[in-house]
Amino acid sequence: MPLQKLVLVTLLSIIACPTSLAAEAIDHEVIAAIKEEGIQYSQVMETLSYLTDVHGPRFIGTPGYYAAAEWARQQMSDWGLDAHLEPFPANYLGWGIEAHSVEMMSPRYMRLQAVPAPWASSTEEVSGELVEVQFDDLEALKEHQGKLKGKILILPVDSDASDASDPVKHRLSAEELIEKTQAINPSGNEPEERFSEYLRNDLEEFEKRRAKTREVVAWLKNEGVTALLESSRRNYGVIRVSDSALLMEDPENSLPYFILSKEHHGRLVRSLAKGITPTVKLSLSTRYYDEPEYNRNVIAEIKGSDRNKRDEVVLVGAHFDSWHVGTGATDNGVNSAVMMEALRILKTLGLKMNRTVRVGLWGAEECAFEGSLGYARKHYGTVIGSNDFRDAQGKVSVYFNLDNGGCKVRGVHLQGNEKARGFFTDNLAPFAYLDANHVSALNEATTDHVVFDELNIPAFTLFQDMLDYYPRTHHTTLDVYEAVNEEAIKQNAVIMASLIYHAATRDELLPRKRLQPPIQIQ
Ligand SMILES: [Zn+2]
Repeated sequence: MPLQKLVLVTLLSIIACPTSLAAEAIDHEVIAAIKEEGIQYSQVMETLSYLTDVHGPRFIGTPGYYAAAEWARQQMSDWGLDAHLEPFPANYLGWGIEAHSVEMMSPRYMRLQAVPAPWASSTEEVSGELVEVQFDDLEALKEHQGKLKGKILILPVDSDASDASDPVKHRLSAEELIEKTQAINPSGNEPEERFSEYLRNDLEEFEKRRAKTREVVAWLKNEGVTALLESSRRNYGVIRVSDSALLMEDPENSLPYFILSKEHHGRLVRSLAKGITPTVKLSLSTRYYDEPEYNRNVIAEIKGSDRNKRDEVVLVGAHFDSWHVGTGATDNGVNSAVMMEALRILKTLGLKMNRTVRVGLWGAEECAFEGSLGYARKHYGTVIGSNDFRDAQGKVSVYFNLDNGGCKVRGVHLQGNEKARGFFTDNLAPFAYLDANHVSALNEATTDHVVFDELNIPAFTLFQDMLDYYPRTHHTTLDVYEAVNEEAIKQNAVIMASLIYHAATRDELLPRKRLQPPIQIQ
């Protein structure tokens, strides 16, 4: 054998050596078929329009949420999936707006841009003089004792809340992607933060806010205050709601409460500073719902084709609930639509997949992940405080999540699971031409995949370009259909369908991280 040939044979045997990193089997014909169905015959924008224009917003525990869930269930049934609604325990009341109006009547007339704060109570049409006061601070309030009857209280300008310098559209830059892909520590430069710690902090913070709100609102009601106004923390008339100063989720202890656009709030406060006291007229009609029936996750699946593997599951999901201001498009109707579309593509193509593929559209993510948490506790284990898993936990190969807006997927955070790097590197490689193949060791918190991660199920949320998500659409009045990028979400559905297909057909389950001791929550 000539030397050149020997070298070649040796090289080939090294490349083919099965003891080195086994490459994933990528089926390019299937990917081509997925692209054809997902790009040329996409239904994702139509699905999104139903979830937003017809059934948005999808505030927890409301008939509107339930109707949306029922629509998604029926739609997936019509596509041939096995779909059902599944209850989860919820601690929050449903709430919705029936009508509202806020107007400045003097010294000049102006209709004010305003949205009711979540769980605000109703009032007949009422007028009142404005008083600027730090109404979320009981000590500051007490200086005004006896002087607030019939008044409308307005918070001062929050100097920390200016976002004027935020870039409106931000696409992940080459430098940022390099920083992500070269990270070696899952928590980056931050101290390690597991889900239980995150949830514990969240719950503690929530309890503190609730206790403070209870005390302050009781005092304000006793003083005979008419209503509360605060400023949005976004510019350009965009009203963001969920960071209201007081968290009034108790109907027995609530007030009419509005968030104004920053610009209209500013005009009122600057007038007060000049000794001019505007009169404001407002009305608000809201409704509380205490119907456990409305708290449902939407579950749908394609049964695995291999009798020996069909009890193994590739689980995917996105949260289905939204805040009440926009129609819940970028957070997170869009990714519910993308996950539905991914399963529609796979079902339409009739692809044979050994494992069962299941989607969960979760309720109440915006209220401490109650939907996914309820599902995980029912099927897989206790999540917090113990590593006692049910058998089904061992049968879930992987959980894929999406919850980062309506722009392009750029890659995945490994959530500290280095063993899954090969799966993603190989499976995202066909999407390198879309610049969507970046694999990062970093952790990501704050959405449903952390529930499954805490159960030692390989669980990942794909990262996306944010563009105008945080400065403009996240939890705001601009969270509507128009904020979603059609081309991007068609691509995202194709990438998801391909990841799901390959996870459901590969020989083994995806590898798990080392089991960590459970964290206790007091
Ligand atoms: Zn979200």
